Amino acid sequence: MIYFIMAMEAEARPFIKRLQLSEDLMFNLRLPMRRLKGKYCGIDISVIINGKDKKFNLDLIGTQAATIATQQAIERQYPNLIISAGTAGAFAGKGADVGDIYLSYPHVAFHDRRVPISGWNEMGIGSFPVYDTRKMAQELGFKLGIVTTGDSLDMSPTDAAMIETIGGEVKDMEAAAVAWVASLYQIPMFCIKSVTDLVDSTHHATHEQFARNLETSVEKLTDAMITVVEYLAKHSSDYC
Ligand code: SAH
Repeated sequence: MIYFIMAMEAEARPFIKRLQLSEDLMFNLRLPMRRLKGKYCGIDISVIINGKDKKFNLDLIGTQAATIATQQAIERQYPNLIISAGTAGAFAGKGADVGDIYLSYPHVAFHDRRVPISGWNEMGIGSFPVYDTRKMAQELGFKLGIVTTGDSLDMSPTDAAMIETIGGEVKDMEAAAVAWVASLYQIPMFCIKSVTDLVDSTHHATHEQFARNLETSVEKLTDAMITVVEYLAKHSSDYC
């Protein structure tokens, strides 16, 4: 069984439609998180969506919701693999383009945690090792990179410096939270991220690029998610 943990409904909708996944009405009646389930290539697939904020009726993006979504899903049924899938920012200066697909490797980390005391600092950043995606990326033509997570869409100069130190190539708001929970349960995890915006662009604000590129990036994300499931079905019996 594979769990895709996703923040936004708009990111998940085309995948849910293509795989004809159906709502798990018993997932959690008290929380906004949702689970959709089905089968593809003989593998049980679930998409966990963070759900909507009650007050604002907006997708619950960010690390808090991603943490609960991942934990709740695991406690309901243990998956063999967890994939944090969604959109992300990346760096033109590191060769990225809008619509690129990145698989995380060798780890994911938090870029907005600052506790300048030895040990605590490293724990905050996390650096959670991920499933070895190298062969998969090579065969499927995806890029590889360190994914870093913080709770803001923009990038402050402090965040930028931290991302540089960590060697981050992909910037999102959920991956490290998902990775942390997966690590607690010792479940293998990696990310599939589709680039909506180039955070080092001096011409266009991140949120404008995000809005403009969301639809095409999500199409690419959906194709990538399907290709990854097909690849895993072909190369391993671990997930059936
Ligand atoms: N829902 C809002 C914007 C959300 S953008 C809207 O429609 O306008 C934030 C989401 O996209 C998060 O889930 C995050 O993981 C991802 N994301 C895309 N680009 C990002 C970037 N440059 N930095 C951080 N997160 C990014």
